[in-house]
Amino acid sequence: MSAVAPVPEDDDLGLSPSIDDVAAALREDPVLVHPLYGNGARDEVDAALTAKVGTAREEGVPVYVALVPGVPGLAEGDHGYEAAQDLALRLSRELGDGYYFTATDPSSNASADLGTGEWSSTRIEYVPGQSQDAQSAVVGQVAWGVDQLAGTADDPGQYLGGIWQRPDWDIGGDGPSDAFSASFAPAVAFVAVGIGATLLVRNVTRWRETAPAGTRVRRDAKVLADASAPSRGGVDSPDHLATLEHTVRRELDVVGRRRSRRAGRPLDAATRTRVDGSYATAQAILDDPSPGRARRLDLVGALVLTRVAAEALDEPRGAPYRPCFANPLHGRGDRTREVADAGLAVPVCKACSVGPITDPLTVRHGLRRRPYYEGGDVWARTGFGALVDDLWSEVGRARAGGGRS
Ligand SMILES: [Zn+2]
Repeated sequence: MSAVAPVPEDDDLGLSPSIDDVAAALREDPVLVHPLYGNGARDEVDAALTAKVGTAREEGVPVYVALVPGVPGLAEGDHGYEAAQDLALRLSRELGDGYYFTATDPSSNASADLGTGEWSSTRIEYVPGQSQDAQSAVVGQVAWGVDQLAGTADDPGQYLGGIWQRPDWDIGGDGPSDAFSASFAPAVAFVAVGIGATLLVRNVTRWRETAPAGTRVRRDAKVLADASAPSRGGVDSPDHLATLEHTVRRELDVVGRRRSRRAGRPLDAATRTRVDGSYATAQAILDDPSPGRARRLDLVGALVLTRVAAEALDEPRGAPYRPCFANPLHGRGDRTREVADAGLAVPVCKACSVGPITDPLTVRHGLRRRPYYEGGDVWARTGFGALVDDLWSEVGRARAGGGRS
């Protein structure tokens, strides 16, 4: 163990940082924005907040921003406000009087602000004009609050868009809306990935329309029979969901024990972020899965995240685990398959690499079942990690933005 823990550049303090960890990191850098709070533009958000906090400090107000998920042992409450308040109070005891902006539960969008000492009666205004369905992200509120403390507040409207706004993923069936593109204007690469994945998904749906039916699908050897075989009552039945959930919990348990055993040994930052992020996100899904028909997709997603973490522990510098795009329950996507005329290839299992796709992962729509990739949720956009490198981060952001995945 080294005496001085370096502060990771992406402000990811690991899975459950203690108050002391957070305080130590804030002494080095008064603005901590975990990627889950970054709206897909974490670096820009962090840089902008850092500049504002610098201005406030020049005006004599010591401002600290700690948007740090998963700090254990804080006050409990329904929506995370109590925990955020508690974090602010405890940090002020370690770091002294000033103004604290805190949040620790990305799934709830709850944040707290607290002035202590000579700032204990200072009140900041909230960003006006937010509707329930277009709330400014936590970081937009923090930015507006710091502006007020720095005496530079003049336009709260700027925090209702751009990098300050939570991603609008509700893109429907016709591709990205203007709001979708606009919300990511500062993160062009990310937009490209999102649009690429959308096109891909729409093209992939042609598989089913054009593929001749009838070829028997031979399952990949890595299929988890108990997780993918429907039990009586069908795939959405309580029986099947319970079996799937049990499988996820069992695998996640193993990953949790392996993580603990590795705790004292060095792991490069990217791998640690992947392991911790995937593990925490899988756990968060298990703790609070979506209701109704989306529950099964969430459990499948948690299983994939668990395997991403396991693979990263196995092969610390290897590529991320990618599941079969057609059906993640088939296991690893170690082959590729061209998608219609799109000139693109997606990872698939051996059985799905040739012939028609006869066993896609489906979700119920009324009386019909449709392949999951015809939907518009985070699982469709990412192919359960088949199409992206950082599934945990996409899922975390989707949950932060819409409450659930
Ligand atoms: Zn497959």
